[in-house]
Amino acid sequence: MAIEKLLIANRGEIALRIHRACHEMGIKTVAVHSTADADAMHVRLADEAICIGPPAAKDSYLNIAAIISAAEISGADAIHPGYGFLSENAKFAEIVEAHGLAFVGPKPEHIRTMGDKIEAKRTAGALGLPLVPGSDGAVSDVEEARAIADAAGYPVIIKAASGGGGRGMKVCTSPDQLETLMQQAGSEAKAAFGDATVYIEKYLGNPRHIEIQVFGDGNGNAIHLGERDCSLQRRHQKVLEEAPSPVLSQAERERIGGICAKAMADMGYRGAGTIEFLWENGEFYFIEMNTRLQVEHPVTEMITGLDLVREQIRVAEGKPLSVNQEDIRFTGHAIECRINAEDPRTFAPSPGTVTSYHVPGGMHVRVDSGLYQGYKVPPYYDSMIGKLIVYGRTREGAIMRLRRALEEYVIEGMKTTIPLHQALLKDPEFLNGDYTIKWLEEWLAREDGQ
Ligand code: ADP
Repeated sequence: MAIEKLLIANRGEIALRIHRACHEMGIKTVAVHSTADADAMHVRLADEAICIGPPAAKDSYLNIAAIISAAEISGADAIHPGYGFLSENAKFAEIVEAHGLAFVGPKPEHIRTMGDKIEAKRTAGALGLPLVPGSDGAVSDVEEARAIADAAGYPVIIKAASGGGGRGMKVCTSPDQLETLMQQAGSEAKAAFGDATVYIEKYLGNPRHIEIQVFGDGNGNAIHLGERDCSLQRRHQKVLEEAPSPVLSQAERERIGGICAKAMADMGYRGAGTIEFLWENGEFYFIEMNTRLQVEHPVTEMITGLDLVREQIRVAEGKPLSVNQEDIRFTGHAIECRINAEDPRTFAPSPGTVTSYHVPGGMHVRVDSGLYQGYKVPPYYDSMIGKLIVYGRTREGAIMRLRRALEEYVIEGMKTTIPLHQALLKDPEFLNGDYTIKWLEEWLAREDGQ
């Protein structure tokens, strides 16, 4: 089928990103929005806009009935969920398809499998992805847990099967804590996710977070688009991402990428996906798969020249991928800074009205943001207000360009994390690419101590 009109079930920069791909493909767009977003840029640019509810996400951007009604009223023939909100909700994907609409995302059964962490790990193992050593599945019995922890070696991490957002995890350093921490993890998981199921993994002391972008056509063909290094994190939230990773060789990239692409082909995976790994001492350990477009997808677009949203839409139309693995060339280096409306030291949210706005430009500089002068950032949603992405022929070139672009970027009326990025880009360890998932929090603690 050819998609002619696509409903974007999201807001902010990602809604704009999808709108742009659609208009470049000659597809009309329908924006949906809460009452708090009536003046948002994604609403202004879309061909049509439909209000789907009050500010709270559960009443608007998570309101399946309202979104499906909006699609029917507007005559849309497809829905793109973006990231967050309903993007990894298998039920939503099923409902979309049951209404005869194309879901621009994976098959619902794959969303479901990868959404359950134990099921995801089992599937990943069966597909040949390298796993973190640990339990085969859920663990409820303390004796069994002890045997698993002994075999894996301490420290271990107890994780909630239904966990997400870095919550519901407990690190256990010795056998005598195991029973108490398992109980705590279980009851916290029950309270947060309504499911007390936990499993156990070896705890990696100081890994990097390296993820592989994959793409499948749903008919057994799949490719990988290399990795992104997202080790710079605060409280498990990514802050800055780059591609390629400063630590991977081309041979290592091809090896892990090949394993991931084959796994996706074997699975019959459809659309964009990201396989997340922890990486330590040259080894990859699967942690989870995200069955959607990621916030940081532009760094991959910069080094491959591919438009990932366009590919997603093509695949949703039943077309093949526009490239083969052999066609993909990785050139240069790309870095993304997430710009949040937050105090750059305390990270307290700082929503407000944009009183002055100037966007950086020039060669190889991309800004994905819905901000404009006079726009009022609503307090109800994520604090990310934009992404600045740059490309350079080398990592050093990209860093110099990013520093230059950050100097130009003016957002007045609220605090932003621009000063944080400026400081990070001067740090000698960052400049050496010498960082792990622990690095940023240690760096912040040092800065606070000064
Ligand atoms: P979530 O779905 O909650 O984001 P993940 O399994 O992706 O959970 O893990 C989130 C983060 O927790 C990882 O990025 C990493 O920082 C840390 N983590 C998870 N598993 C391990 C592990 N086995 N060893 C060390 N750190 C881990």
